[in-house]
Amino acid sequence: AIADSGAPTIFDKIIAKEIPSTIVYEDEKVLAFRDINPQAPVHVLVIPKLRDGLTSLGKAESRHGEILGNLLYAAKLVAEKEGILDGFRVVINNGPTACQSVYHLHLHVLGGREMKWPPG
Ligand code: 5GP
Repeated sequence: AIADSGAPTIFDKIIAKEIPSTIVYEDEKVLAFRDINPQAPVHVLVIPKLRDGLTSLGKAESRHGEILGNLLYAAKLVAEKEGILDGFRVVINNGPTACQSVYHLHLHVLGGREMKWPPG
């Protein structure tokens, strides 16, 4: 279990393109790239380019409403681009108990296989 230290994360280096990633979608505020350890045929991470205190969803405040909406809409665009609009899952792991390992808010967009419920 990894706790939130508030330190910059590897995602800052991915945003700055100091570390390579396979980008699926990008706009002014949002970056989406393939997870390095995919848990499904499609596994894309959607992140805000500016973390702005959003180490995790649990840190969200009213002022974050617009970026949170942008992230969710970007998840839909990713699903569309990846051809999984008919069946995909969006996941946010929040905190050590939920297996969050990178403290820069990110949505997991998963699809391309049958998804079980509950996820475990
Ligand atoms: P979490 O466990 O915090 O919800 O998800 C973090 C995700 O980031 C994991 O699925 C992990 O595989 C992914 N990840 C960690 N480091 C890198 C990296 O350097 N590049 C990419 N593309 N994904 C990463």
